[in-house]
Amino acid sequence: MEFSYRCTVCNASYDITPNHTVCPVCTKHQQKDQPLTGVLEVELKGTLDKEFTVFDLLPVEPEYFPPIPVGNSPLWEPENIRRTTGFKRLFIKDDGSNPTSSFKDRASFLVSAAAKKFGIKDITLASTGNAGSSMAGIGAAAGQRITLFLPENAPAAKLVQALQYGATVHRVNGNYDMAYDMSLEFTRHKGGINRNTAYNPLTIEGKKTVSLELVNQLGRAPDVLFVSVGDGCILSGIYKGFRDLKKLGRIDSVPKIVGVQAETSDALFRAFTSGKFTNIPTSTVADSICVDVPRNGVHALSQLKQFNGEMVTVSDTEIIQAQASLSSSTGLFTEPAGAAAFAGFQKIASTLDSNDVVVVLTTGNGLKDSTSAALGIQVPENLINSVEEIL
Ligand SMILES: *Cc1c(COP(=O)(O)O)cnc(C)c1O
Repeated sequence: MEFSYRCTVCNASYDITPNHTVCPVCTKHQQKDQPLTGVLEVELKGTLDKEFTVFDLLPVEPEYFPPIPVGNSPLWEPENIRRTTGFKRLFIKDDGSNPTSSFKDRASFLVSAAAKKFGIKDITLASTGNAGSSMAGIGAAAGQRITLFLPENAPAAKLVQALQYGATVHRVNGNYDMAYDMSLEFTRHKGGINRNTAYNPLTIEGKKTVSLELVNQLGRAPDVLFVSVGDGCILSGIYKGFRDLKKLGRIDSVPKIVGVQAETSDALFRAFTSGKFTNIPTSTVADSICVDVPRNGVHALSQLKQFNGEMVTVSDTEIIQAQASLSSSTGLFTEPAGAAAFAGFQKIASTLDSNDVVVVLTTGNGLKDSTSAALGIQVPENLINSVEEIL
């Protein structure tokens, strides 16, 4: 297999080197407060053996990947939900089972391997939480130095997790956008690789592995897949995986992808409906999908349009209820951003064919943010002194 970068806007080709991030030509037209323009994507050329592993379709050779078991996340068959909804072929792909408990490990894994291949030890990024703790954990396994710029409102567990893994963490007195700009400035001064989402094309490429696994696990592509959306990199990665398999003749068509956002953080949904990106300050209980300007918005939007995708929004109340109902009916405890995908399925299930193979992707473990999860349950207030009191 041969790999190169291709600009998703102007189609220019570039070699895969650490110096190439966004397209140097298109980025000259980058406007402030707009999604990234000139996002690069990996283009592959070649043929695939009958039995394939995800490494066959990745642009870095297997020997460079650190010794930490990323991916191969389990595909759940939730009997109780299948019964109550009538969707007999509903599956949940649980990416909270990754080593650092979120989907972000798929991207960090490939970025870490590329850094090793290029002989680079320093990796820097800005993150609202999961990408940072993920890069820190994968970097720990690889022996790499991770520098993380974290906005002040990141959940405590994600900060603690990154520090546990030994990352250098700079807490930014401001939001994600400020952290993002600072991390780029830091990389310009210090060198090394920047893993900012979408800015580093390998973040999207690493995320495609979920689609490859799904096709291996199901023996086919799903009919419909639900995924929560913040910056739109997971969404684009999912499309990329299915597009690669279609190009290689392994599946017939790209499935329908439904992107789910919070009502109060719905930048991609608004652009999907109106055609243009507008910047409105956001807030949602699902911190991992709380994004003002979706970094990969342009690329994500064009794929949604091209492959007949859909966008839906759900309220914070629906997210919190979906989280608790998923936990109590399946044993799968996912963070609010993961539960948003399930809430999206519940919201539009009546418009789907219940014979379809439907996959809901849960992207992070519920323990990442126990404060939000506590909103959906009742914590007993009174302490008891004897069993008699409760009999
Ligand atoms: C990052 C993240 C998302 C959203 O991914 P984007 O690429 O930003 O759209 C969803 N869920 C979890 C748990 C995440 O960490």
